[in-house]
Amino acid sequence: MANISYVYPNVSSLQQRGGFDERWELAQEHGCTYIEVPADFIKNKTEVSRTGLDLCAVPDQAAIKTLYENHARCIKDVRYILHTEPSLRRTDGYGISAQALLKWYDPEWRERFVRMVLEVSEFLGKPAARIEIHPGDRRNHNQDLIDSVIFLQDAYESAFGTRPDVLLENRTGQCIQDGNTIKNLADEVAKESDDLQASFGCVLDVQQLYTVTKERCFASFDEIPPGFLKGFHIHRKHGAPSLDDPIPWEKIFAKIRTFDQEMIINPEIHHKNRVGEVIGFCRGLVG
Ligand SMILES: [Zn+2]
Repeated sequence: MANISYVYPNVSSLQQRGGFDERWELAQEHGCTYIEVPADFIKNKTEVSRTGLDLCAVPDQAAIKTLYENHARCIKDVRYILHTEPSLRRTDGYGISAQALLKWYDPEWRERFVRMVLEVSEFLGKPAARIEIHPGDRRNHNQDLIDSVIFLQDAYESAFGTRPDVLLENRTGQCIQDGNTIKNLADEVAKESDDLQASFGCVLDVQQLYTVTKERCFASFDEIPPGFLKGFHIHRKHGAPSLDDPIPWEKIFAKIRTFDQEMIINPEIHHKNRVGEVIGFCRGLVG
C-alpha cells in the first residue's frame, strides 16, 4: 500500500496566516498528519497597510510578527507544511496589480526568500515538516533551483538542526510545468547528490498538469521518475474532483499506488465543508 499522509489545506474560511489551533483540530478530525501554513509574499491591500511594505514584497521579520497570529501554545504539537509564494498576480484594491517574482537565479533575492522562511518557522516556534516552493518564470534554470534548495536546506539546518524535505510544485506558465520539465529537473537532481535526491522532489498539482497537457496528461505524468514524486495537490479547479472529470484520476492513482516512497496529499480545495469528501476520494483510489 502506498505510503501516504494527508495535509489539511489552507481553506478560505480560515484566518489566513493564523487559525493554527483550528487547523490542527480540523486536521485531526479528518485524519490528516499535517496542516498547511501559507507563506506568501505581501498579498493584498490589508497586508500592505498593516506592514507598510509594497504589494508582493518579501515580508521581513517585523511584517511576519504583524501578519502571523502567535500561537506558541498549540504549535508545539502541530506538524506543518510551509507553502511558500506561488508567484501569483496580486491586486492592491486600488487598481494596482503586481506579480510576486521568484528569482532563484538572483543570490540576493534567494537570501531574502530563505530569511523569510527561517523567520516564519522561528516565529511559529518549530521547523516545518516540508517546504513547498514554486519554479518561477523561465529566467530560472534547473541549476538555480538546485542551488537554492541546497542553500535553503543548509540555512534551515544551521537554524533548527534539521534538514527539511523541499517539494517543488509545477505551475502553468512557469519553468517547470509538465512531465518533461519535471523529468529534466529530476535527472539533474539525481546527478547532484544522493542526499539531494532523498530530500528534494516534486509535489505534483495534477490539475495544473492537466491544464498544460490536456489529453496527454497521463503520458506526461508517466514521464516523471516515480521516486521524484513526493507529494500531490488534488483538486478540480480548487473544488472537489470526480471520476467524471477529464483528468485521468483512476490511471494516475493506480500508478501512485505502486510507489513506495513517503508521499503527502494536500486536497487543495477552497471549501472547508468538502475536505472530507476529497480525502475520501483519494483514499478510495489509493486503496
Ligand atoms: Zn497546488
